[in-house]
Amino acid sequence: MIAVSVNNLSISYNTEAVVSNLNFDIPEASYVAIVGPNGSGKTTLLKTLLGIIKPKTGNISLFGEDINKINPLWLGYVPQIKTLDRSFPATAIELVVSGLNRKWSSFIKKSDLKTAMEALESVGAKSFAREQLANLSGGQLQRVYLARCFVRKPKILLLDEPATGVDLVCETSINKLIENYNKENNATIIMVTHDWSAAYHHTQLVLLINKEQVFFGSPDEAFSDVNLQKTFSHLGHN
Ligand code: ADP
Repeated sequence: MIAVSVNNLSISYNTEAVVSNLNFDIPEASYVAIVGPNGSGKTTLLKTLLGIIKPKTGNISLFGEDINKINPLWLGYVPQIKTLDRSFPATAIELVVSGLNRKWSSFIKKSDLKTAMEALESVGAKSFAREQLANLSGGQLQRVYLARCFVRKPKILLLDEPATGVDLVCETSINKLIENYNKENNATIIMVTHDWSAAYHHTQLVLLINKEQVFFGSPDEAFSDVNLQKTFSHLGHN
């Protein structure tokens, strides 16, 4: 089964295309890395796959359904750590419950509390369930956002550099949590990453982009000198 099918996709904010000529099929349960230089359109592509940005041309289908007709619960999204809002006056458990109900509520049902606590436990975050978000470290906050995503059991998980900006120990365990979610739930994972080593070791497919699709296929082929040169040789990238 193809989880994500992208055909002739181009995306723009104004008139000029940010990224164009995207064509790829992602089989269900695969783990895919999106790699490219800063400003190459990676986050824009994730937002388009989430349905937040409409394509300029082309189309996207998820499990054979047009993206505009799918059940939004199929998709989960974890944004870049630097964009996570820690000033919001809520505790970790409240944030996870909001993922379950897709809204904030002052009253939490007992059954929701149990489910959310299990999700926090699964990412090693149970001990700080009652902490205010403002008091959490970057790595702790990222775990809570992962729990908020996992609790809905999305079939496709989109992550934007989930382990960037946290320390190495934390990075390793966040990568492990994502890999476990992939294996245990047969979920499709699409992750933007700067970490070529993690992409090489953990994923089955790599999409290289630089304003357009450079390569889509196995990590072995993706990380060849020729493909990396094509992807990163511009604007002073070394
Ligand atoms: P990446 O994630 O690869 O760093 P982005 O997808 O964030 O790249 O950005 C791709 C290009 O689109 C950049 O040139 C960026 O300046 C531009 N861009 C991103 N967001 C917007 C926006 N909301 N409006 C206009 N241009 C944008």
